[in-house]
Amino acid sequence: MSVIPLSQPDISKAEIQAVIDVLRSARLSGGSRQSRFEDMMAELTGRNHGIAVSSGTAALHLVVQALDIGPGDEVITTPFSFIASANSILYAGAKPVFVDIEPQTLNLDVSKVEQAITERTKAILGVEVFGSTAGMDQLAAIAGRHEIPLIEDGCEALGGRHRGQPVGAFGRAAVFGFYSNKQITTGEGGMIVTDDDRLAQSCRLMRNQGRSDLLNTDTKAYQSLGGALLAHDRLGYNYRLSEIACALGIAQLERLDEMLMARREVASLYIRKLMDFQDLILPNVKSPDAMSWFSFVVRLTDQYGQEQRDRVIMGMRRHDIGAANYFPCIHLQPFYRHQFGYEKGAMPIAESVSQRTIALPFYTKMDETQVELVAHTLKVMLQREQLLRP
Ligand SMILES: *Cc1c(COP(=O)(O)O)cnc(C)c1O
Repeated sequence: MSVIPLSQPDISKAEIQAVIDVLRSARLSGGSRQSRFEDMMAELTGRNHGIAVSSGTAALHLVVQALDIGPGDEVITTPFSFIASANSILYAGAKPVFVDIEPQTLNLDVSKVEQAITERTKAILGVEVFGSTAGMDQLAAIAGRHEIPLIEDGCEALGGRHRGQPVGAFGRAAVFGFYSNKQITTGEGGMIVTDDDRLAQSCRLMRNQGRSDLLNTDTKAYQSLGGALLAHDRLGYNYRLSEIACALGIAQLERLDEMLMARREVASLYIRKLMDFQDLILPNVKSPDAMSWFSFVVRLTDQYGQEQRDRVIMGMRRHDIGAANYFPCIHLQPFYRHQFGYEKGAMPIAESVSQRTIALPFYTKMDETQVELVAHTLKVMLQREQLLRP
């Protein structure tokens, strides 16, 4: 275990009590906590519907399925993301078409998106990488011009704002994930938000084995339908989220502002301590948007290569400090190369960036001493690299 882990959930007494209350109740799935959690997420993002599911990946899968994307279709997306964003396209049998990223914001380079659109393009899947929201409005405009849906993967940007709009408000639907390293956690969990009634209904059916959404067996509607619980309208999945997880999610959402503020403070501590390191490129904070910090990812300057970056990460880990290589390029993952024939050099900016990034420990409860220790250790590792230079 690391002395300073890469991430750590922030669970207060309120969350513990909320979970205990569920365990003492008679309903562990499909009850009032689910609808409350969904309503809170819909309100936060200014949407009509929230659909709670078992993970962010499940949320992406359902949205792609609900948009009837399938074999022969293409979806434009970024190679620089957590792999789940592109995998959801593969689940549907469609082809991810990668477009290179913009080196400052690390999001899709919007100036290159339009030329990748063909008659097979069925959607654009944009990701707010590390909480950076840049370009989401432009992606929405491009999608609008071409009459294709935008899917907003907001899994790393909950609570952020972009040009006056909350993250989650862009595109036909947006998705969030609540794994334990995200801004809020339910252990495992996810959410779809949308204004589209039909898409919401399809997602609700598919998360519950394709059955009509009458989880609440106390209602008259449910009782009058009798056997409706076993009527399966279409192929579905079990992507439900338990009441235990939903209760945790509600309590976490109630503390969202407080937790985002704490993350912002840790980010500014890092910026202060690392500002003078010549060999580092710090996260782009010039954007006018309200940033929701997911992680704190620095980049070595281009005198460094992947081998040196990996050695710096290993060195930090040997000092019990969590560090990670967020993200290796998706198009270069073996099964993507094998299936779609992507080669090195296909996405030069994403490839160059991804060889030099280092995610540093980042969580609400980090104090100045810990940030100082991380910064100091990073500096020692960089000095070591300079000695190793020929
Ligand atoms: C975390 C994350 C997801 C969803 O992950 P789950 O672990 O399935 O909840 C999807 N996309 C991105 C960009 C993420 O960071």
